[in-house]
Amino acid sequence: MQATDPDIYWITEPQLGLAGNMYLPLFMQGLTTTVKHLFSPKVTVSFPEERPQIGNPLIYRGVHRLNKDEAGRVKCVACFLCATACPAHCIDIVAAPSPWPDREKYPESFTIDELRCIFCGMCEEACPVDAVELTSLLDLTGRSREEMIFDKEKLLSVYDMTQAAEPMKSLELGNAPSK
Ligand code: SF4
Ligand code: SF4
Repeated sequence: MQATDPDIYWITEPQLGLAGNMYLPLFMQGLTTTVKHLFSPKVTVSFPEERPQIGNPLIYRGVHRLNKDEAGRVKCVACFLCATACPAHCIDIVAAPSPWPDREKYPESFTIDELRCIFCGMCEEACPVDAVELTSLLDLTGRSREEMIFDKEKLLSVYDMTQAAEPMKSLELGNAPSK
């Protein structure tokens, strides 16, 4: 016996014809999709021989870099805000008195464990002087876990490698910090 509640919809099984019973409509639907993809523009590339084009490197979250100031010094002032904000606890900083008069501290050592990093971008957001940034470098490889722990020199070298193609985001967005 069927319920009379108007909110209940009873569904009856559709009657399939000869074509339906032979799965012809579904077969043609699948074939059409395959043929359509054969002639549509290709979106894959032969990596690593071909490099994928990153539409907007400013919003890409790849390998980190430590930025340098105009004098070529590390911009970081060892405030620990990035390490505090990092949800993966993969930033380790050892602060020391700065050898320069324009800041109190600088990072004697600065390491990021790229294997623990989840590339959330919180460190970049937290930094008051735009010293740490994520770049559009996406191929991160190493032959050991130790190689994937990027120290200060390696992070500064990523800046040297990427700064021409990817200017500092604060400069690019026109909101450079005062420091
Ligand atoms: S991107 Fe996120 S997880 Fe990676 S170091 Fe920065 S804050 Fe930590
Ligand atoms: S990178 Fe930025 S947030 Fe992190 S310690 Fe240095 S100045 Fe502070």
